[in-house]
Amino acid sequence: MNEPNAMIKPWHGVSREEINWNPTVVAERCIGCGLCVTSCGRKVYQFDYDNNVAVVANPLHCMVGCSTCATICPREAIEFPSCGYIQQLIRERKIVRQSKDMLRDHPDDYRTEPK
Ligand code: SF4
Ligand code: SF4
Repeated sequence: MNEPNAMIKPWHGVSREEINWNPTVVAERCIGCGLCVTSCGRKVYQFDYDNNVAVVANPLHCMVGCSTCATICPREAIEFPSCGYIQQLIRERKIVRQSKDMLRDHPDDYRTEPK
């Protein structure tokens, strides 16, 4: 039996497979520096040593809304769907409401430390 992949979890009740959020590498612009591969803590990328290019190997591992790798890529070779897509998802799936419910129901998980 296959182990469940801990990296692929629903996001605020929406199954990860339903969410179109992962990087795309524009191979023509990639210089093979590896910054995206070595910086992403979720193992979204692997490196194609033969062609000296980053490869998106595990797109569903990508954290919804994160775009760190695109920010740090020195060649602007990483693209994402627009932020508007995420905002639309938040509206349509009532995720603000869900987040407020989490804060209310789990204060011990989120409360600031007493000073
Ligand atoms: S950070 Fe950009 S240039 Fe460097 S390997 Fe990744 S995609 Fe290529
Ligand atoms: S956006 Fe964040 S989680 Fe997704 S691949 Fe880039 S660094 Fe990793």
